[in-house]
Amino acid sequence: MTGESTKHMGQRIKLVGILKDKGILDINVLDAISNIPRHLFMDSAFQNHAYQDKAFPIGENQTISQPYTVAFQTQELKLKKGMKILEIGTGSGYQTAVLCQMGANVFTIERQYKLYRKCLKILPKLGYNPKKIIFGDGYQGYLPQSPYDRIIVTAGSSELPKKLLSQLKIGGLMVIPVGLNIQKMFVIKRKSENEFDKITKGNFRFVPMLKNKN
Ligand code: SAH
Repeated sequence: MTGESTKHMGQRIKLVGILKDKGILDINVLDAISNIPRHLFMDSAFQNHAYQDKAFPIGENQTISQPYTVAFQTQELKLKKGMKILEIGTGSGYQTAVLCQMGANVFTIERQYKLYRKCLKILPKLGYNPKKIIFGDGYQGYLPQSPYDRIIVTAGSSELPKKLLSQLKIGGLMVIPVGLNIQKMFVIKRKSENEFDKITKGNFRFVPMLKNKN
């Protein structure tokens, strides 16, 4: 192992310790975070800070989510190997890598063309293979593979997108931050065709989920 990768591994172990202290207990989530080279999903200017528990710019006015937020949302998904999951907001691809590492079948949508193009390259290069990376508007979901066991939204939505709710399996879970400036994390379980259990789990701050692609 090179000195460089030993350094990063040490930093990741520290980060995992911070996440445990903040209440992340799911061993599969912690394992994924301890394995994934977050620095490679970031611009070189920020790579030295990659294992701080902070969000950073990734260009196009977007950010790579804070590791705690990634871990919190992923823990709430109660993901099992082989589940089919739809992610809205591929962004840097880091959250996508976490889902792939945990053995999920991932469909992920990004509306910023440059970020979409970057993810098409970096994810397979690092050995993460989502089933499909889609350039499009996440408000529409992705009907060809619907329904999903899980849906995760990684941008702040002003409402609960109806099309996404309709693409969730009965018994499935959706984790989505809802709100304008500050978002409440909603964890939604589809109980039947028309019934959804909704609970909220704390406040977070995300970049906005925008309409249409650009
Ligand atoms: N999971 C990402 C988070 C990136 S920030 C990461 O860890 O890096 C949120 C992302 O959602 C941004 O890349 C933004 O372009 C994207 N986004 C915002 N609105 C969207 C929409 N309607 N459809 C798809 N992606 C959207």
